[in-house]
Parts: sequence; C-alpha cells; structure tokens
Amino acid sequence: SNGPHGAIINGSLKQTNITVEGLKEDEPSEKGWSPSSWREKPVKQEVVYPDQIPVQRSITKLEKLPPIVTPVEIHALRNNLREVALGNAFLLQGGDCAELFDYCEDSVIDSKIKLLLQMSLVLIWGANKPVVRIARMAGQFAKPRSSPTEIIDGKEVPSFRGDILNGYHPDTRALDPERLVSAYFHSAATLNYVRGQISSGIADLHDPLDWELGHVKDKTLQARYSRIVSSITESLRFMRTIGADTAGQLETVDLYTSHEGLLLEYEQALTRRLKHPKNRKIVSSPLDADGKGWYNTSAHFIWIGDRTRQIDGGHVEYFRGVENPIGIKVGPSMKSDELVELLDIVNPNKEIGKVTLITRYGEGKVETMLGPHIEAVKATGHTVVWQCDPMHGNTKSTPTGIKTRHFSSILSEVASALRIHREHGSFLGGVHLELTGDAVTECIGGSEGLVEEDLSLNYTTYCDPRLNEKQALELAFLVAGHYRG
Ligand code: PEP
Ligand code: MN
Repeated sequence: SNGPHGAIINGSLKQTNITVEGLKEDEPSEKGWSPSSWREKPVKQEVVYPDQIPVQRSITKLEKLPPIVTPVEIHALRNNLREVALGNAFLLQGGDCAELFDYCEDSVIDSKIKLLLQMSLVLIWGANKPVVRIARMAGQFAKPRSSPTEIIDGKEVPSFRGDILNGYHPDTRALDPERLVSAYFHSAATLNYVRGQISSGIADLHDPLDWELGHVKDKTLQARYSRIVSSITESLRFMRTIGADTAGQLETVDLYTSHEGLLLEYEQALTRRLKHPKNRKIVSSPLDADGKGWYNTSAHFIWIGDRTRQIDGGHVEYFRGVENPIGIKVGPSMKSDELVELLDIVNPNKEIGKVTLITRYGEGKVETMLGPHIEAVKATGHTVVWQCDPMHGNTKSTPTGIKTRHFSSILSEVASALRIHREHGSFLGGVHLELTGDAVTECIGGSEGLVEEDLSLNYTTYCDPRLNEKQALELAFLVAGHYRG
C-alpha cells in the first residue's frame, strides 16, 4: 500500500499483506486514501467557484500537463531532510509570502537565488554543516485569509487569495478558474529558469560574490560581518587553490521548491502515480506492488498552513497520502496531543525527516510553547525536522495600519528556538523566512536602521511583510554567530 492506504490498482482499492520491515504481516491498512479522498472531509479556506464548468476545464488540462518536479528530485530532498532531522545538515527555506505571477521575471528570480545562496554560505560557515535550500517559489500562489472580504475605498470586495485564485487589483477579485492553469505555467517557467541559471553557473563559487556591507552603520557589527565574509571568501579561495572542487561542488547547488498546499483542487490535479526512484532510500510505502507511489509533482516540498491543519480536515487527509516531504505549521493554538496525533496520521511509519514542524509562535509565546511540543514529540519516537518560522507570530500593525514585523522580534524568536531546543536536548534544524532579494521596506529594524516612517518608501508586498536582502543576510550572520559563539 502507500503507507496508510491500500494500493490503488486499476482504480480499485486492494489491501495487500506483504511482510515488510516495520510493518506486521496482518496489520490492517488504514482506510483508503486517494488523491481525491480529501473531498469527503471538511475543508477550511474552501474555494467555491460559482460555475464548475470552466473549473473542470482547467482541472482536465492540469491533469494532462507533465509533472513540474520528479520522484528522483523529491526523494533527493527527502534524503537531505533526513540528514537535517538527524542533525547532519541545516535547512534554509525562504521566499515571498505571496508569490505573484509577475515575479516570474529573470532579475527577480536571480536576486532570490543569489540571496538564498549567500545566506546558505553564511549558515554553512556558522553551523559547520551542509545547508539544504528550499525556495518558497515556483508555486507559492495560494493564500489563506483571515477574512473573506475587505474594505477598499469604502467598498467591500473579496480578499486577495493569491494569484492562483484571483487578482490583487480590486476590480479583479472575482475567482478566475483560468488562473489555475496559469499558476502551472508560471511555476514551470520559474523552475525552468532556476534550473537553467543553476546549470549555467549562477551559483558558481569560483566567481566572487558581492556582499555589500556598506549599509551597516554600526562599526562593531560591520567589523563582525566583514570577518565572517573574509572567512568564507578565504575558505573558498583555499579550496579553489588546492583543487578541492574536483567533483564540481563549487560550481552548482541544489535548490528545491515549495509552497503551501492550500488549494487542494490544484494539488490533486498534479498528484500522479509514478515509479519510485530505483535507489530510493526511504521506503514509506512498503506495499507498493507496482513499484509506484503518489507524488505531488507541483513542488518538491509542500506544507499545511496553520489555519488548515485540523486533524479531521481535508488538508491533513490529502497530505497523508503523498510521497513528498511535508511541513506542518505549528502555531500557538496547537495542543501537544493534537501535534502527536497529526504526526501519527501523516507519518505512521515514523520516517525520519518526512515531516518538518514549522513552529511560529511569536517571540513571547515561543518561551512557553516550544518546550512542551519538543517533549511531546520526543515521547512519540518521531524524528522530525524542527524549523523555526520567526515571521508569522510576529506580525504587527503600525498605528496607521501598515502590517510590519520588527527585525528584533524575528531574531529573538530564532534565538529563543535555538536555546530552547538545546535546553531540551534537541536542536533547531532550520529556519523558514519570508524574504525577497529586492530593497523593500516592509520589516522594521536591522543594520540599515529602518523605522516606521520608512515603511512607505518601498512597501511592495501583496501579503505579509518580507525581510529585504540586507535584513535577510544579516539574520543569517546573526544565526551563524549563535553557533560560533
Ligand atoms: C505563510 O506561511 O504565509 C502563512 C500563511 O503562514 P501560517 O500558516 O503559519 O499562518
Ligand atoms: Mn505569510
């Protein structure tokens, strides 16, 4: 079967009982899963199109289009995340809150790849571990919203739900089913460009990187960051000199894609029964008689948002059946027993690193909430990737109603997570950030000294406030500093 469910062969559900390591012979498989079984469950953030005919036309098209990512890549990431869960690597995940179709543009993509690369170099230097990079990119088009409508210029309009559903402009807020197909093509074009740039040397460390530390006004900080950059630059120079890059490791990197798996209609249409890679190390589906499994081919990694992680909900149902590594957002309302139950549902075979728990409590609540969650998970025997999202629990509104986040709160939540994990004999496996390679002014603080009045200078997010290039890099320096002392 595919872990929790039976093998679906020729459309019928067959319960197979083969003895496999970790699974007793007559252990009953759980009730059937299929790419559409989520439809029998309540779905939060549901999308109700007024007319099903154009929706079905889009879905039929999506079901025919080729996979955007492949099982070999998905398993490569799973293997990498296993290493993160075991403490042998660090996970850096970042990108926009809401990716727009308009971000599918070479310079925008280039700057995000470069930023993630630079941050990962700093983190490698700091944590002394390889870094696994996942972009919130090439598909981060669906947004959960707290309210279905908002008031713009005194008029009530539907909220912007992400480019896959409707447009940001108030006149384009009606749901548009053509956007489902458009999302596919924008994902594919973005990933195509990422693959092209990486294979053409955008991440080639033989080329010097531009670190631009001129904005750091504080002399002590400036000196500290410069020392880190010199240390990295020196190490790279040394490796090149002694020819330590014979396998070409300095020329290229892996960059995986991810998004919130919110719009299940879309995710289902890209869920395919595909052959497992030959050298698959992790076997979560021991009863696959046909050597195949269900893969979400829209991205390497998908996560369940904090608003859609209900035990009995459609999202958890969908996520429990796919081979991909998955994330679960863990906010302040998560109860420990609920967390444990979730892990048992989505990862019954307790595969190491299959699940990334993305904690996002806020700088205050992390102090009391993370410890008990760590202990609860420890008691289950699940080995997860613990990732800190220091963004979503730290969103504030200015007196004039602009959504922002303070750099100091973001740093504080990461620092607390690092410390609390250590205190509990655990370790922080990675960070999950909202960032952009552009010089936006959306978060307050950092070395540039952005203040509330600066927010209007270049506030361009269509959802949550992102770290700009300098703030993101600075966060990497500071996290690295925590490891180096
Ligand atoms: C997000 O990651 O953009 C998001 C909506 O997060 P959360 O589900 O944690 O609120
Ligand atoms: Mn967000």
